[in-house]
Amino acid sequence: MLYRLTKSKFILGLQCEKALYLDVYKPQMAYFPPETLMRFRKGRDFEAMVKSLFPNAIDVSQHCGRNIQKYPEMTAQLLEQPGEVNICEAGFVYNEVLVLADVLHKDADGNVSIYEIKNSLSVKDVFRRDVSIQHYVINHCLKSIVSFSIIYNDGNDNPLYEELLPEARGAEPLIAKHVERFKEVLQGTEPQIETGEHCLSPYECPYSRYCSGKITKQLELGGL
Ligand code: SF4
Repeated sequence: MLYRLTKSKFILGLQCEKALYLDVYKPQMAYFPPETLMRFRKGRDFEAMVKSLFPNAIDVSQHCGRNIQKYPEMTAQLLEQPGEVNICEAGFVYNEVLVLADVLHKDADGNVSIYEIKNSLSVKDVFRRDVSIQHYVINHCLKSIVSFSIIYNDGNDNPLYEELLPEARGAEPLIAKHVERFKEVLQGTEPQIETGEHCLSPYECPYSRYCSGKITKQLELGGL
């Protein structure tokens, strides 16, 4: 299945179209400071703990590894099985956008609930956009979504839930516009965007060294 955008690239594009462009065409220029890598690791640990709460979950990533193209195919096969099923990293593609859902639960009647896991003490706006882009894609692949929740951290590694399905449904027209815009961006040349406050929100941009010229200097010095 062909795709040009992913969930993370979509979120990056909302922050800065140049960051999206760089992430597709110059990903080697990304730099993640140690604090960010630590945050990723803690996030993965919390995510693994929450996933373990779903009995007999089948993790698509353990079967398909880095072969991302295979995720939607295996997910579709698992969803064809009768009865209840829990799937981790369930893959879907629509309109050239690929998303992987942290956990998908299909009940015996075929109703689907999806869970996005974040190691955070609150539900931030960026998480709402994260759920909205996933819903945009998955809702075009399955017509049986009855719930789309964020699972976040109460501060003691206990999961809290917030239902975001109505909000995600309402955001669909806006998400569709962004998707078309980002596909245009990827067909053009590197956007000329100055650095500014947007480089730090909602996350510190991994291309800040590139945009400030520091990475070129380090490459010349053989430092990277
Ligand atoms: S550093 Fe700032 S201007 Fe450069 S790509 Fe990132 S967000 Fe955009």
